[in-house]
Amino acid sequence: MTTPDIQQAATLIEQAEALAITCGAGMGVDSGLPDFRGDNGFWQAYPMYKHLGINFYDAANPSHFADDPAFGWGFYGHRTNLYRSTTPHSGFNILKKWSQRFNLDSFVVTSNVDGQFQKAEFDTQKILEVHGSIHHLQCLRPCCQTIWNNKEETPVNLETMRAQHLPMCPYCQGVARPNILMFGDFSWISARSDAQEQRFHDFLDQRSTYQHPPRGNGGINGYRSTSLGLICQYTPGE
Ligand SMILES: [Zn+2]
Repeated sequence: MTTPDIQQAATLIEQAEALAITCGAGMGVDSGLPDFRGDNGFWQAYPMYKHLGINFYDAANPSHFADDPAFGWGFYGHRTNLYRSTTPHSGFNILKKWSQRFNLDSFVVTSNVDGQFQKAEFDTQKILEVHGSIHHLQCLRPCCQTIWNNKEETPVNLETMRAQHLPMCPYCQGVARPNILMFGDFSWISARSDAQEQRFHDFLDQRSTYQHPPRGNGGINGYRSTSLGLICQYTPGE
């Protein structure tokens, strides 16, 4: 960004009546998290998958949990442990300080499943996780619509990328899976994200007549355009 861009951004924040924070994988990079951008980015983070010829699209697939749960949980168990041990970078605090300094109500909309905004102590009632959260589980089948907190320890053998412990469903004793929308995923339970989404629409309703983004899966592009639209709507002279 150029200096005039930064000045314009500062003016917009100063004049804003609320702060809608939209973000994706890039937000985690400064905390040291991989963004899986392109096959090389993914394989750099997970050399074993390169050896096996598996890319991010293949690894983030619910079929592994049914076919070979220890392998499916290898990828997600490792990421759970990584996100749990990661400290959110100072940018999270900068966003919180803007909100406090200008007395702005704020709402986070993120496609990340890493729970870093909760870890940075943002208000959990004002976060929309469009693709769900790795810190919540559901039944693989699913036998019921329940979503529960992931309190399991899932160590992973990095040589084989296989989990050494499998989280199980407490209701049917079958395998549990992360409550994340994966690729080719027809059994993700969206109730938790749906409730978050309703709170975000309420947040928008309270302060603007802005046209809402589309609801449901794939809405992240809608949130991107909402982000740009909100900026244009509140930019003086546009
Ligand atoms: Zn179950």
